[in-house]
Amino acid sequence: MAVLDQIEKKVLSGLPITRQDAGFLFLEATDEQLSELSTSVKSRFHSLDEASYLIMAIVNYTNVCVAKCDYCSFYRLPHAKDTYLLSTDQVCEKINALVQLGGKLVGFNGGFHPKLKITDYAQLFSEVRRRYTDLEFYEMTVAEFMFSCKVSKLSYDEGAQILAASGTRWVTGGGAEIMDNSFRKRHSPGKFTVEDYFNGQEAILRAGMGSTATMVIGFDETLDERLNHLESLRAFQDRVGGTLASFLCWTYKPWNNEFGGNEISTNEYLRWLAVSRIYLHNIRNIRTSVLTKNADALLGLNFGANDFDLPTEDEVTQKAGATISHDFEAILKTASSMGIKAVERSPWSVRFWNNQK
Ligand code: SF4
Repeated sequence: MAVLDQIEKKVLSGLPITRQDAGFLFLEATDEQLSELSTSVKSRFHSLDEASYLIMAIVNYTNVCVAKCDYCSFYRLPHAKDTYLLSTDQVCEKINALVQLGGKLVGFNGGFHPKLKITDYAQLFSEVRRRYTDLEFYEMTVAEFMFSCKVSKLSYDEGAQILAASGTRWVTGGGAEIMDNSFRKRHSPGKFTVEDYFNGQEAILRAGMGSTATMVIGFDETLDERLNHLESLRAFQDRVGGTLASFLCWTYKPWNNEFGGNEISTNEYLRWLAVSRIYLHNIRNIRTSVLTKNADALLGLNFGANDFDLPTEDEVTQKAGATISHDFEAILKTASSMGIKAVERSPWSVRFWNNQK
């Protein structure tokens, strides 16, 4: 097929593909062709017989949120009966549980809490870093950061500087879902616009903290909306000099929320993962999601991914239907059955990462 041959030629010569090429690959290439092309892009950065992982927990410090995204199974409005906001000691109990399981990374994730200011977050993060010097923390997501700056009546630059001064190192790219304004209007009009999101993330990077990119697929987004996400992300990564450390894609879980729907197949997830690896030629680490795809996520190591987490808890996705297993050995067997050695890694350090630019 002539079009596919041309795209293959581009990929194999190390050239970027266009969004039209990405759409074509997703619709027309066979699974084998996607696996082969994404593996060839991955080989520019990583050895093919190894993959890296770490054990981590997502600590949901509050379920209070005023954004009201229709695909969310987790949030509670401020006056609901079953809201919570964890104290620092309660947060530490959850961190202790992770340490017992051999974990090295804690990601914090809550909601758009109308009373939590940037200084409240800064205080919590500096306290947990003081108590757990051997762990790394993904302190906030970009979406939570943006909302808290609004609550605090601070610009993104001012908010980012307060966090950085308190020792915060990572504000990760969570809460991005699909970066397309029509999608956002349909499902989460109270959250952010795409332009605003990238402004918030750029302020975080300017303040010297690290960040990452994420995507969630399987709502009702069109292929065009998915491609808009990849296109704006690749342009942003170019603009910030390749500073985003990784791209993680996971799948929407349709249970217990207003929007509902059906979960997409593992095959569709793997195909999109491959397209993302091929199109996002400027992102070194492509991560596959054990949180939403369990052991099947490791099949993504043959579709461009080089890294994954073994999660120990995350109420947000568990409320939406995700199941988490602590039988890490059973999950890792999928990698060995594919001839790939899974190696536990240390969390990336921002300083190390920024020196890679
Ligand atoms: S997805 Fe996040 S921002 Fe949206 S309602 Fe849920 S907790 Fe709030």
